[in-house]
Amino acid sequence: MSRVEELAAALAGLRERIAAACAAAGRSPDEVSLLAVTKTFPASDVALLSDLGLTEFAENRDQEAGPKAAEFARLRPDAAATWHMVGHLQRNKARSVVRWADSVDSVDSPRLAAALAKAVAAARAGGARVDPLPVLLQASVDGDPARGGCPLPALSELADFVAGSGELVLRGVMAVAPREMPPASAFAALLTAVTRVRDDHPTAVELSAGMSGDLEDAIAHGSTCVRVGTALLGGRPLALP
Ligand SMILES: *Cc1c(COP(=O)(O)O)cnc(C)c1O
Repeated sequence: MSRVEELAAALAGLRERIAAACAAAGRSPDEVSLLAVTKTFPASDVALLSDLGLTEFAENRDQEAGPKAAEFARLRPDAAATWHMVGHLQRNKARSVVRWADSVDSVDSPRLAAALAKAVAAARAGGARVDPLPVLLQASVDGDPARGGCPLPALSELADFVAGSGELVLRGVMAVAPREMPPASAFAALLTAVTRVRDDHPTAVELSAGMSGDLEDAIAHGSTCVRVGTALLGGRPLALP
């Protein structure tokens, strides 16, 4: 099998899983977008996924993503693509990340939001960017500070901060289910939290939840976007996140 056939088969299987999960939850598959997590895989794979009709791609490291997005643009100059940053982001990478990311889905503190807002303002002032930056708040369901994410009780305050920044557009919430918790309980808690955020911020429509191993549970609990790496592209080297 060629690589494109391999990816096409994985994509077909994934679409079936998403459709079945939506049917089980009484939802339309149109409500759930597919974000391909291409970390550790080459730009040539992104090009093939683009040929297969995907338009949304995610990366978790700034230093890998910038060159990959540029290489993809050389390989497929006419293809539509939206790049998401889904990994932990240090404040000193804000200026770099706003050069390639169309959306930053891992905003987990007011300090990071402030650094991103400043970077977006500089990019807009310099003519490198026209629009404000769409962002998601990364929520931590169990509040474990070691794994990143904003604890659920602090989410509303972070949402207010982002919405008031002027340079960022609050589009919703992202989370990874903690390992020590059944995914269904984690996603249920997340849905409650995002519903509260939406009451105050009507633009916060997105709930990015569910990965290769738990997308069914996430879709059952209101996910609007599943982030899939392994089930689409295959296994990553174990040393990498
Ligand atoms: C790697 C990663 C994914 C994809 O995980 P898979 O289990 O390979 O589908 C999703 N979200 C984030 C934040 C990731 O870092």
